[in-house]
Amino acid sequence: MDRDRILLTPGPLTTTLRTKLAMLKDWGSWDSDFNAVTAQLRQRLLDIVNGQATHTVVPLQGSGTFSVEAAVATIVPRDGHVLVLDNGAYCKRAAKLTQLMGRRLTVLPFGEQEPVSPAALDDKLQADTSITHVILIHCETGTGVLNPLAEVAAVCEHRGKGLIVDAMSSFGALPIDARAIRFDALIAASGKCLEGVPGMGFVILRKAVLEGCAGNSQSLAMDLFDQHQYMEKTGQWRFTPPTHVVVALAESVQQFIEEGGQPARLARYTDNCRTLIEGMRGLGFEPYLEPGVQAPIIVTFHAPAHPAYDFKRFYAATKARGFVLYPGKLTQIETFRVGCIGAIGRHEIQQAVNAVADALKELGISHHDHSTN
Ligand SMILES: *Cc1c(COP(=O)(O)O)cnc(C)c1O
Repeated sequence: MDRDRILLTPGPLTTTLRTKLAMLKDWGSWDSDFNAVTAQLRQRLLDIVNGQATHTVVPLQGSGTFSVEAAVATIVPRDGHVLVLDNGAYCKRAAKLTQLMGRRLTVLPFGEQEPVSPAALDDKLQADTSITHVILIHCETGTGVLNPLAEVAAVCEHRGKGLIVDAMSSFGALPIDARAIRFDALIAASGKCLEGVPGMGFVILRKAVLEGCAGNSQSLAMDLFDQHQYMEKTGQWRFTPPTHVVVALAESVQQFIEEGGQPARLARYTDNCRTLIEGMRGLGFEPYLEPGVQAPIIVTFHAPAHPAYDFKRFYAATKARGFVLYPGKLTQIETFRVGCIGAIGRHEIQQAVNAVADALKELGISHHDHSTN
């Protein structure tokens, strides 16, 4: 096979040839050409959320989680009290890193099949006034559920609480407008819906909040206040930047703009998601989530309730046909996930569904005899 495998995963994901080609050049981290790339990229990321008047973008080396950790360390004072709205695996990760950094933590749990509740948040903030900050995962990639960002932001604003949003798997695809939604920090990364390669995250910080964040971070490398100050002063990254990742992201953002920006990306992913669910339903698979709460980012499917089903074999059989699936993240029931994001369209999704049909045959599961659990 001379085509790269299609990654049906929520990052790393399939990128375009243009994005890959952008990495065939070496850049000096101190060089003005590279600094110009960084500066333009920061502006363009800010434009995606209309944040020019109120916010600033601070990029950070590492995977997305590094930026979540850095945002919490930078924004939340050491005696702050963080409430995590928890309806899945990435929420639990945010809670864990908050706790490991020594911030006081409270978790408000919800079911994994439903969005978090702004009304329950309001009750909680009323009952415990010591809470200073709220963490929301916009799209919980563990299941694919979409959480109500605007409503949660309105509650936080009304109660005077800081809001940290992990928008890792939604940024660029779902609408987020900083003029209408008040947040202190919003985090995303290169290798998600902007269709770059993995290796850097970025945090969109409210300028009015950032000013008071000196000395909050207990980590040198994760201090976004410092990173921001240094970058504003010198135009450079504070420590060695992932140069190839940065130029690849700049190139993928250029293509994002050419495609028509966030509305066009959402339209393509929505079409991918619809095509995927229809095709998989035709094979007897049922999505785990109700359609109304499903984000067009990643879909969790129930595994076939068939004795011959085994995820590893199923994965290998679809991979041999050129498509890489993603394991489920639920502990109670057997599931697997299929991403809708990346530089792919409905044709790749239809091919993926065909590959799944062939893989089922190879495993000895005919689509008539597996009902889903
Ligand atoms: C991808 C993702 C992250 C970051 O994961 P990394 O493996 O560190 O890149 C964080 N939150 C959400 C919701 C994600 O989808």
